[in-house]
Amino acid sequence: MQLAERLTRISVPQTIRMAKLSRELKAQGIDIVDLSIGEPDFDTPAHIREAAKKAIDEGFTHYTPVAGYADLKAAVAYKLKRDNGLEYSPEQIVVSTGAKQSIANAVLSIVNPGDEVIIPTPYWVTYSELVKLCQGVVKFVPCGIENNYKITPAQLEAAITPRTRLFMFSSPCNPTGSVYSREELEGLAAVFEKHPDIFIISDEIYEYINYVGPHESIASFGSLKDRTIIINGLSKGFAMTGWRLGYLAAPLEIAKASDMIQSQFTSATCSISQRCAITALRGELDATNEMVAAFRDRRAFIYKALQEIPGLKVNEPDGAFYMFPNVSAFFGRSYEDSHIANADDLCMYLLHKANVSVVTGGAFQQPECIRISYATGMPRIEEGMKRMKEWLGKLQ
Ligand code: PMP
Repeated sequence: MQLAERLTRISVPQTIRMAKLSRELKAQGIDIVDLSIGEPDFDTPAHIREAAKKAIDEGFTHYTPVAGYADLKAAVAYKLKRDNGLEYSPEQIVVSTGAKQSIANAVLSIVNPGDEVIIPTPYWVTYSELVKLCQGVVKFVPCGIENNYKITPAQLEAAITPRTRLFMFSSPCNPTGSVYSREELEGLAAVFEKHPDIFIISDEIYEYINYVGPHESIASFGSLKDRTIIINGLSKGFAMTGWRLGYLAAPLEIAKASDMIQSQFTSATCSISQRCAITALRGELDATNEMVAAFRDRRAFIYKALQEIPGLKVNEPDGAFYMFPNVSAFFGRSYEDSHIANADDLCMYLLHKANVSVVTGGAFQQPECIRISYATGMPRIEEGMKRMKEWLGKLQ
């Protein structure tokens, strides 16, 4: 069958492929410790669930405005002021079916064929695929563990050319858990001040899952707010991945363009999710803080456990719920019929021998690492670490 040419430019995220593989093994009755998960293992907080039930009973079951209900956009503006000290009018906000769609709206609004887009790596897989869909040119900038996988101002400056249109990054970062400090963002902002035509997509979906805090947005520096698109949503901070609610806050023209694009793709996100999002955004963050406290304990445990496995090189991430150890010491080693040439092989070895599911760093453009999620209960993390230690120890 002859499908559209654009399909040759993109692929299925390896995160989704890995999740599918572990689901299949679990269905065969194999006890898989799943540390490949990209979502909180907690339930959506009760007060938000109640608001959703009320919305159903009150009849919020019809089409909504494309960019979201007016009072929801006002709630997003309230949140941006409360948490980030940033002033946005409701017209600058577009609510969508998740941060992923907001990023797509922004990239489709900005990138022309041939435009260069700078993406520091490791990075979240979807960024490059969206750029490629728009026939843009992805320029990866590799960032090492020595700087906690963060781009430096010098690296940014060196990557910029007259064709650079956009810079995309996440802080806290998936997959590394790295968080840019105010000083680090200030350094990047100084470079952007010299290049006024470059847009910035600042993916802040892990904002609340930050162990060093407070969260800093690059939009808060100098003139950058006028060309930064803030991406956020409820998936991670409120354990609401299935509700599909994200948003962007942007310069008015980009918000209008996103609204237009979205009007042709999805119209708007679910009316029920929108109603209860108002409760989430305007409410207290007690449930979020409790969840983050649990993540903090797990991070301490898993960091120590990984340090105790000979051969792993590991840093302590400041945010999100991932560890991103370097596993290159195992390359070239074998056990019985398993030979490890790269991180992909190591992930398959861990999956099939140790029955632990993690994601290869190759998925995030860092082929020497693996991503281990601790968005699962402590007993499973303990079991996973035990199995990893045992099976990695067999590789000679
Ligand atoms: N950005 C990053 C960095 C993510 O990790 C994710 C989810 N894995 C998203 C965006 C998408 O989130 P949503 O569920 O809101 O579409």
